[in-house]
Amino acid sequence: MPSIFTKIIKGEIPCYKVAEDDHFIAFLDINPNAKGHTLCVPKLEINRIFDMEEDHYLDLMRFSRKIAKALEKVVPCDRIGVSVIGLEVPHVHVHLIPINEMKDMTFQHKVQLSAEEMQDLAKRIAQEL
Ligand code: AMP
Repeated sequence: MPSIFTKIIKGEIPCYKVAEDDHFIAFLDINPNAKGHTLCVPKLEINRIFDMEEDHYLDLMRFSRKIAKALEKVVPCDRIGVSVIGLEVPHVHVHLIPINEMKDMTFQHKVQLSAEEMQDLAKRIAQEL
């Protein structure tokens, strides 16, 4: 079913894009747990991650790993946390979250960044790819 991410993929609504190829797109989460919180999304509309074809799923993980490696070069952190939820947006996405402590993964502690900061972050992560 089309989701808000479908609109982003189609370019109908804007995002702070980090990377895109034929099958996947990565952009900054609009309500980040931490600076640099990025979503890696398959272009195919699938609700649940483990319903993905195995190769497609593994390609998503490969794409996410590449983004995570670039992300940790830009945002100082202990590590990149990974989460898959999908309760708010039922279109598969991998959350990549620069974390230093457990609360960074709780989705209850949010950070505010300006549009300029988001734009600059997305650009700098993209440059590390
Ligand atoms: P969940 O479906 O529970 O994994 O959460 C969906 C995530 O998508 C949340 O972290 C939202 O902040 C994020 N989100 C929702 N709409 C947008 C958007 N238009 N651009 C970027 N991130 C979004």
